[in-house]
Amino acid sequence: MEDNLLIKGGEFLVKEINPEDIFIPEEFDEEQRMIGQTCQDFLETEVFPNLDRIDAQEKGLMRELLMKTGELGLLAISIPEEYEGFGQSFVTSMYASEILGAGYSYAVAYSCHTGIGTLPILYYGNDEQKQKYIPKLASGEWAGAYCLTEPGAGSDANSGTTKAVLSEDESEYILNGQKMWITNGGFADVFTVFAKIDNDRVLSAFIVERTFPGISFNPEEKKMGIKGSSTCQIFFNDCRVPVGNLLGKRGEGFRIALNILHMGRIKLGGNVVGAAKKTINDSVTYANERKQFNCLISEFGAIKYKLAEQVIRTFVTESTVYRASKDLDNAIQYYINKGEDKGRDTMEAFNQFGIEAAALKVFGSEALDYVVDEAVQIHGGMGYSAEMNVDRAYRDSRINRIFEGTNEINRLLVSDTIMKRGAKGEIPLMDEAQKVFDEIPALEEEDFEDKDYFEKNNNYVRNFKKVALMLMKAASEKFARKLIMEQEILNNLSDIIMLLYGAESTLFRVKKLESIKGETFELYQKILEVFIYDAAHMIKKLGLDAIYSFAYGDVRDLLLKGLDHYTAIAPVNVKEARRNIADHLISENRYCF
Ligand SMILES: Cc1cc2nc3c(=O)[nH]c(=O)nc-3n(C[C@H](O)[C@H](O)[C@H](O)COP(=O)(O)OP(=O)(O)OC[C@H]3O[C@@H](n4cnc5c(N)ncnc54)[C@H](O)[C@@H]3O)c2cc1C
Repeated sequence: MEDNLLIKGGEFLVKEINPEDIFIPEEFDEEQRMIGQTCQDFLETEVFPNLDRIDAQEKGLMRELLMKTGELGLLAISIPEEYEGFGQSFVTSMYASEILGAGYSYAVAYSCHTGIGTLPILYYGNDEQKQKYIPKLASGEWAGAYCLTEPGAGSDANSGTTKAVLSEDESEYILNGQKMWITNGGFADVFTVFAKIDNDRVLSAFIVERTFPGISFNPEEKKMGIKGSSTCQIFFNDCRVPVGNLLGKRGEGFRIALNILHMGRIKLGGNVVGAAKKTINDSVTYANERKQFNCLISEFGAIKYKLAEQVIRTFVTESTVYRASKDLDNAIQYYINKGEDKGRDTMEAFNQFGIEAAALKVFGSEALDYVVDEAVQIHGGMGYSAEMNVDRAYRDSRINRIFEGTNEINRLLVSDTIMKRGAKGEIPLMDEAQKVFDEIPALEEEDFEDKDYFEKNNNYVRNFKKVALMLMKAASEKFARKLIMEQEILNNLSDIIMLLYGAESTLFRVKKLESIKGETFELYQKILEVFIYDAAHMIKKLGLDAIYSFAYGDVRDLLLKGLDHYTAIAPVNVKEARRNIADHLISENRYCF
């Protein structure tokens, strides 16, 4: 993967992909597994025994934990060796994010520090800035944070009013303004702060140290969850920042902010997988201990349904997370080989995969919300008790739908960005959509029975893509530029795209695992079958919602015919399949897929 880009961001919708080309978590090598084990050991010894102390924000504890993480080398996984890091791949850093993602508030501090707290400087800093800050951030000597949000500028982040003006002697920028909801704000040593220079319409970025004069902090916010994560409001009152601390070029701040957020969203996908696996473990061990009506509650079909569904959504999220991460690693390599500035080229790759990043963020955070919600339910009254971990998991999960861009913003981004790339000719969206329109009139009922397993499921996924393509084309023709105002329809499209991306990633993973055969492989097949069955029915409903919202007459008839055909699938005994998945989980008494 040195000379050409195997797949561009968003291209999964129109390109035939070879399952062999995707990465699956079963392919981690020994070194990656050792890093994963170090993360797990750290959680077991330093985080899980101290959860109450962490949530009480015991003074200095989170800072100390980050320091210890640094001593183990876990803050430096993907930092290049020239800045005292280990130069590992993005996939490896994702694996660490997954395992540490089970660490409740600690996971938020870790993610913030290693992601949005460190990477703006690593990717956009000049040599001097990188030499000064990155080794300290990589070792944990310093902690990092990222200051974009303001009281009046949340989702509309570019509307911030924090202002920077050059001092008379031109040696410093003088910052005035206010930032809020800043993770790690209570203890971070270095902040990437976004502000507008003079009367610029766009943001610039600055590296600000905690000790610079004119910076002050409000007390910790009181929050619904992630109570151990530090979150502060920060004030800049004639805060003096050396001119050498302008990050990137003047006016480049919004681009930096967005590209860093793409990366943060993919990382969040990894975090939620770790959190979900931990919560499934808590759910199944409780279900295997609690007796009612003279039997363990894990023997009830209603509980098995929940356990199986927790597994399915987690497995699918995991499949998408590692597929996208490796695609991204390939893209990083491709852009670095082509370009001259490693940092900016890496960011170009993140920008390329903004669609997948938004999809992982939304799909993953909603999967975790399902997992934690049903975990509380499986625990009954004990789930509502503050003495169990599931209450913490339930509260901590909720933030994932809000930060790193809300799910509303990210959901819109998925379909809107794909269509924009199509309109620019970067991916042949409309040509492929036209082919779908051309074939609809002659479609006839399909016989699924005589197809081989992989071919049949591949065909379903191909058909789901056709639903997305035909609806995108019909909606674009109907609304043209005004489609952006039709958020409900864009949301229908995005949900269809996320479902088919999940289905295809899981299908390819199962295909790659064909060689292992046996009982475990059969369970993977069941996960796939239930997910594809659900996806087909959900896509049908989403498609109907969209079609009835804007299409009339012959166009509507054509779209309905296409939708019926492309969402038709053979019957699946989902009850039995879910029971098989749950039974395996119950017998192992831990997540084991
Ligand atoms: C615990 C926590 C930690 C955080 N950490 C950081 C951090 O480290 N650094 C940082 O810079 N920020 C951080 N944030 C801020 C976070 O990113 C913002 O809260 C988030 O982007 C949403 O902004 P907002 O709160 O102003 O909500 P708003 O933008 O006011 O949104 C309110 C509602 O309106 C919806 N909405 C807004 N615009 C649209 C639209 N165009 N179309 C449809 N719906 C829309 C939103 O989706 C949401 O449902 C953190 C927030 C929290 C709560």
